[in-house]
Amino acid sequence: MNGLGARRIGLLGGTFNPVHIGHLRAALEVAEFMALDELRLIPSARPPHRDTPQATAEQRLAMVELAVSGETRLTVDDRELLRDKPSYTVDTLESVRAELAADDQLFLLLGWDAFCGLPSWHRWQELLQHCHLLVLQRPDADSEAPEALRDLLAARSVSDPLSLQGAGGQISFIWQTPLAISATQIRHLLATGRSARYLLPDAVLAYIQAHDLYRAPNAENAAHVRWRPLHEANESFMSKQNMPSEELVKIAVAALEEIKATDITVIDVKDKTSITDFMVIASGSSSRQVKSLVENVLEKVKEQGVRPIGSEGLDSGEWALLDLGDIVVHVMLPTARQFYDLERLWQGAEQSRAQHSAE
Ligand code: ATP
Repeated sequence: MNGLGARRIGLLGGTFNPVHIGHLRAALEVAEFMALDELRLIPSARPPHRDTPQATAEQRLAMVELAVSGETRLTVDDRELLRDKPSYTVDTLESVRAELAADDQLFLLLGWDAFCGLPSWHRWQELLQHCHLLVLQRPDADSEAPEALRDLLAARSVSDPLSLQGAGGQISFIWQTPLAISATQIRHLLATGRSARYLLPDAVLAYIQAHDLYRAPNAENAAHVRWRPLHEANESFMSKQNMPSEELVKIAVAALEEIKATDITVIDVKDKTSITDFMVIASGSSSRQVKSLVENVLEKVKEQGVRPIGSEGLDSGEWALLDLGDIVVHVMLPTARQFYDLERLWQGAEQSRAQHSAE
């Protein structure tokens, strides 16, 4: 492509739990725009920053392979799955680099959210020794770069990605078609018995269905997601909270009110499902608040000796849930709340607004 024999290779690492059109469309557009010889999708084996994903590493890899099949510009690199250590990106870059010529150009693609989290990555300051960074926009992400990245951006950013020089060392932003799709959203849709069609390739969806992934046990109408294997959940149920579920609801609602959750609704689902007694639903005004709200509930119930069964969505901050066995707490951004409309899903159940919810 550049006439000098140097290759241009892009890397997009991720949990891909599951891979979706947001990843694929961005990858393809970057591959074309940057005239890459190859863009490799690299599923992570043990993501150091995430809760354990529900699909196995092999299943996530199989889904990525299905997704890129027939698209020659996109390939799959399984090196992180073959490694016996945590999948740090810097190790992956070193290992990819070792296979390339010194002047080959390496571009690491990162969504804006991932880029903002960079300062918590292992040896993150070394990343640019091995590659350039191409930052993808994510329409649902907050727009301010964290303080820790400002100097780096000032020193290393280049406005035109096509002018990135040399094997690595610079940062540029790519304005690919914005698609506000996340794997979290897809898992939630499937777990609540809804369709995820057109958010991911049909072949991947067929794989998910064939392997029964991401589904709540009674997905027909469940607004509740059990994230751990059932035998573990049952153990937790047996050792579960020595506290009436109504009491647990009060603690959760108070914790939500304490830091100004809005529109707190409690749904009594005792007669509707054997999975849990109450759903507590609340809104937060930003991803950060959604996260803090769930963390506050967690802290308050733990003070009472209650052990949570699981949590999900704290990374994305769009919809986070806390499974306490007898009650499940959902905290969402207003847009997600409107979209998923859990109240409508449970419309036959008794629903009440918390008395002192903030305005
Ligand atoms: P989750 O919702 O589980 O956090 P995710 O959809 O963000 O997952 P990852 O596998 O964590 O997917 O993402 C891998 C990489 O792709 C990250 O750099 C992420 O920022 C980027 N990415 C994911 N979705 C999009 C999207 N819709 N547009 C642009 N980049 C994306």
